Amino acid sequence: MTEVLEGECLCGAVKYRVIAAPIISGACYCRDCQKTSGGAEAHGMMFPASAVTVVQGTPTTFGRKVDSGNDVFRQFCPDCGVYVISWNNAAPEYKAIKVGTLKDPSVYQSQGSLWVSSAQSWHHPDPKLPQHSKMPCVAELSTAQ
Ligand SMILES: [Zn+2]
Ligand SMILES: [Zn+2]
Repeated sequence: MTEVLEGECLCGAVKYRVIAAPIISGACYCRDCQKTSGGAEAHGMMFPASAVTVVQGTPTTFGRKVDSGNDVFRQFCPDCGVYVISWNNAAPEYKAIKVGTLKDPSVYQSQGSLWVSSAQSWHHPDPKLPQHSKMPCVAELSTAQ
């Protein structure tokens, strides 16, 4: 099923559109996501990169090497600072959006938790869903429903 999803940053300067069904959806508990989310896990939906289009504004791209040795790029609004889109240089054919920036975040259904090895004692990864110590590969996640 192909869906059209729209989202934007906090101030609305950066808007994006996704025309695809998500490949995977899940919550990430890595320290980087804790920092960019404000402390909580970050909920994301991953799509083919070609399906994710910035339709308004010019987000700033911030790249950082993560534990795996890969570079993770995150795009945020230069005005309000809210992160909207990210990808990993090891798999640039995929891009993820932050669920909280969707116009309708209720479409999100988590399929599992990533990087629970970095979760804090006050986090509560869903016990009914698969929990991955670190970042599984996309193939593993997509079959882990
Ligand atoms: Zn903004
Ligand atoms: Zn993360």
